[in-house]
Amino acid sequence: MKITLKDGSVKEYSSGMSVIDIAKDISEGLARVACAGEINGQVVDLRTVVEDDCELSILTFNDEAGKAAYRHTTSHVLAEAVKRLYPGAKLAIGPSIDTGFYYDFDTPPFDRAALDELEKEMKKIIKEGAELEKFTLPREEAIQFMKDREEPYKVELIEDLPEDSVISFYRQGDFVDLCAGPHLMSTKTIKAIKLISSSGAYWRGSEKNKMLTRVYGTAFAKNSELDEYLAYLEDVKKRDHNKLGREMELFTTVDVIGQGLPLMMPKGARMIQTLQRWIEDEEEKRGYMLTKTPLLAKSDLYKISGHWDHYREGMFVLGDEEKDDEVFALRPMTCPFQYYVYKDSQKSYRDLPCRYGETSTLFRNEDSGEMHGLIRVRQFTISEAHIICTPEQVEEEIRGCVDLIHYTLSTLGIDEKVTFRFSKWDPNNKEKYIGTAEEWEKNQDTMRKILEHMNINFTEAEGEAAFYGPKLDVQFKNVHGKEDTIITVQLDNSIAEKFDMYYVDKDGEKKRPYIIHRTSVGCYERTLAMLIEEYAGLFPTWLCPEQVRILPISEKYHDYANKVASELKVNGVRCTVDERAEKIGYKIRETRLDRVPYMLVVGQKEEEEGLVSVRSRFLGDEGQKPLDTFINDISKEIRTKEIKKVEVEQQA
Ligand SMILES: [Zn+2]
Ligand SMILES: [Zn+2]
Repeated sequence: MKITLKDGSVKEYSSGMSVIDIAKDISEGLARVACAGEINGQVVDLRTVVEDDCELSILTFNDEAGKAAYRHTTSHVLAEAVKRLYPGAKLAIGPSIDTGFYYDFDTPPFDRAALDELEKEMKKIIKEGAELEKFTLPREEAIQFMKDREEPYKVELIEDLPEDSVISFYRQGDFVDLCAGPHLMSTKTIKAIKLISSSGAYWRGSEKNKMLTRVYGTAFAKNSELDEYLAYLEDVKKRDHNKLGREMELFTTVDVIGQGLPLMMPKGARMIQTLQRWIEDEEEKRGYMLTKTPLLAKSDLYKISGHWDHYREGMFVLGDEEKDDEVFALRPMTCPFQYYVYKDSQKSYRDLPCRYGETSTLFRNEDSGEMHGLIRVRQFTISEAHIICTPEQVEEEIRGCVDLIHYTLSTLGIDEKVTFRFSKWDPNNKEKYIGTAEEWEKNQDTMRKILEHMNINFTEAEGEAAFYGPKLDVQFKNVHGKEDTIITVQLDNSIAEKFDMYYVDKDGEKKRPYIIHRTSVGCYERTLAMLIEEYAGLFPTWLCPEQVRILPISEKYHDYANKVASELKVNGVRCTVDERAEKIGYKIRETRLDRVPYMLVVGQKEEEEGLVSVRSRFLGDEGQKPLDTFINDISKEIRTKEIKKVEVEQQA
């Protein structure tokens, strides 16, 4: 048989050869770092015997699939270590993931000391360097095999496989795991490992099942790569909004109030107010009309909108349909409320487009397991708008939405960091959506054409549409690498009929309008989370809850400090005076730690000459300036929402 290698060279063998033996034949060095093989584009185990002509690549840690095999093998090593130290632990699953691997065990939680012990045991196992052997069993025998080993989760996994399957296992020393592979040849190939953390995880991800203990770890081919990754994780930890946002007293959560219901503290609330005022003013400039509609409504409304049938488990329902005359629900979106604003009077084509905007608080009953800081919450506030327009106006209106999105994101300094996703319906899951297949295809075509006209780079995702229409999603990855949708623009041509919305066209005919559902910036809680992580808490001045702190060098200058403060406040600058009897050096350090962008030190010379001594996060010691000059400079910085480069090493 002829084996064509990645570089185009050809190897010829007279009989079947395993991938690892071919690797050895190419070079011993390659065989030592081989993690998996790829035959005609398909990833295979190194033990796979090649019988026919094919194209073959030997995958190493530098290939995605090779890395996955390497890290997944490390998860087996972790499982063996757990079984050695905790023989009663039951094994669930242990896949490789983007950042390393995890393994779920039915065992009490592990603390850091336990993880360190496990890590030590893993290093021992790696040093022992057991070969991994693969063997297979028919399904029934495989079930018995795992029953004998008292591994109920493995039994359940095998029972889910078809009757006639042949089940594969990997053995290393005394340890055996149910597994499809691929795997390294020996544990000794593994070089650098680290157990990162441990947390609870439900068996099969369902709240109805038992909570297991998940251990996250990672593995690299070189110690230096592991060190680099661990340094990166430290930076992530420093930026994590869920930690930093609490430290900075921007928000908190309280058990008796509930999960996913964060409290905005004075500083966080001020930042959100600043964002909201900005968006409301900007939308007004762009022709949006403001509405203010109720936070709850009778179930009758949601029955018309389709939420009752399509989104009920996501809503907080007040009352019991069996017993109560009227059942209410907190609103999960603003759409149907704004439709009745539209319907309040008859509209003609001259009234369109109608752009209704609202700073709207919404409620979504998500699983408590999903809650995360400000990103996954049950109550949030969003700038939600519905543009009601004629079919001819759709393209221009969507352009306007995307233009507004670019404006808000670039102002926040994250325009370059987002990606666009075109979310379509899932034709194999029709009952999740309203409207016919033809309507969906037509609507999606319209939207795709518009996106193409606008030269937006987008990916397409099936099954991610809203139940009433396709959408453009703006995607952002948080510091943990988890992607979330922050902004959407949705095109809807089916709801108008349900609510009997129409306009009178030029020809005097009543026609159904299109509805564009859109947001202009992420929901405010999530946007705040994003900003905390993006700026590690060092926000652009216009967003800072405290923009200036005035530091009198002694009590004698309190009057002047307060005079400076009132001048600043009159000019719309958020500031405080530190009147404590602390040393000036201490006050300066604390101001920096509090991430206040400007501090003004005032003493005798400043008072006599109407000056302030400016220290900023951007340039450090900026020297003395007349107060008026400082006010002019900072007012301009705030007005233009400037993102100034930080030039001074932060000690915070
Ligand atoms: Zn495995
Ligand atoms: Zn809507």
